[in-house]
Amino acid sequence: MADTVHAVTIIGSGPAGYTAAIYAARGNLKPVLYAGGPALDEPARVPGGQLMITTDVENYPGFPEAVTGPELMERFKAQAERFGTIIHMENVMKVDLTVRPFTLWDESGRVVKTQTVIIATGAAAKWLNVPGEAEYTNRGVSACATCDGAFFKGEDVFVVGGGDTAMEEATYLAKIVNKVIVLHRRDQFRASKIMQHRVLSNPKISVVWNTVVEEVVGDGKRMSGARVRNVKTGEVMTMHAGGLFVAIGHKPNSQLFEDWLETTDNGYIRTVPGSTRTSLDGIFACGDVQDAVYRQAVTAAGTGCMAAIEAERFLVEHGP
Ligand code: NDP
Repeated sequence: MADTVHAVTIIGSGPAGYTAAIYAARGNLKPVLYAGGPALDEPARVPGGQLMITTDVENYPGFPEAVTGPELMERFKAQAERFGTIIHMENVMKVDLTVRPFTLWDESGRVVKTQTVIIATGAAAKWLNVPGEAEYTNRGVSACATCDGAFFKGEDVFVVGGGDTAMEEATYLAKIVNKVIVLHRRDQFRASKIMQHRVLSNPKISVVWNTVVEEVVGDGKRMSGARVRNVKTGEVMTMHAGGLFVAIGHKPNSQLFEDWLETTDNGYIRTVPGSTRTSLDGIFACGDVQDAVYRQAVTAAGTGCMAAIEAERFLVEHGP
């Protein structure tokens, strides 16, 4: 049975969700935040978003000495709680966004009524799912060049993929590392022409076509290379590099809302440009679930702030 109607319910506990909570709580909206719990299909996953699987974060402003991903998220959480955010460490299982107040069902069976919803459920990098990949994650294997590229100064690294993300990661890494080797499973890129051109004309980047990674190899402590297979000839060989950046796309965590909100072809929640408003009044989306381009903790936090301000204004205009 639902008894209270909340003003703002935030779903997600990465930088976007917690920033929205800090702003909404300081605006006296008494937000409730669903931080998520272990995923049913991925029991090892912890709440807190992608930063929970990152080691050092060196690009979040205000931390000149770097901060670990989990510590940064702990600080976000403490700040949100300090101003009175109510946090549930569980998932929202179902939503009904037909009428306001909207209805959400959580894992404990609670039925939550809320005037506005801020969706901050994030995205997850797609992984190759090959042997050695999980073992060497953060010990050579990464899905974010902007986050981890600086740890590979002077080394050779692989980038896997042929889309815009792979081109962007390769171009970014080429400024830092000794050499970038792009491994792509076909004989042409799907990336936009301009981004392809940047890669193909960069002397520090080479491309190995028609090639898939079969295994990430190393000495048990750090990765040292990858066993790759040419899909045309069947030839298998081991190539050496200190890093492997998986750039085969992200999957936004938008499944819960697909029946209710407009999404892009890739499943990202569509927001009004320059705003966090979605296709439904009173529902706002921030962070990586609506951002296929920037995907940084600081941009996620920025849109979280925007979502809280927009929810607050919506409540003033539309009343409870
Ligand atoms: P895409 O889905 O566009 O590309 C994924 C790439 O990874 C493809 O080349 C695909 O190969 C390859 N791939 C997929 N699965 C595997 C696998 N299991 N093994 C090996 N290779 C695999 O994802 P992106 O993240 O690159 O881009 C997502 C969206 O974001 C796009 O719309 C893109 O334009 C946009 N974007 C825009 C940017 C910008 O404008 N600055 C920057 C980054 C992204 P194949 O080609 O064979 O399918």
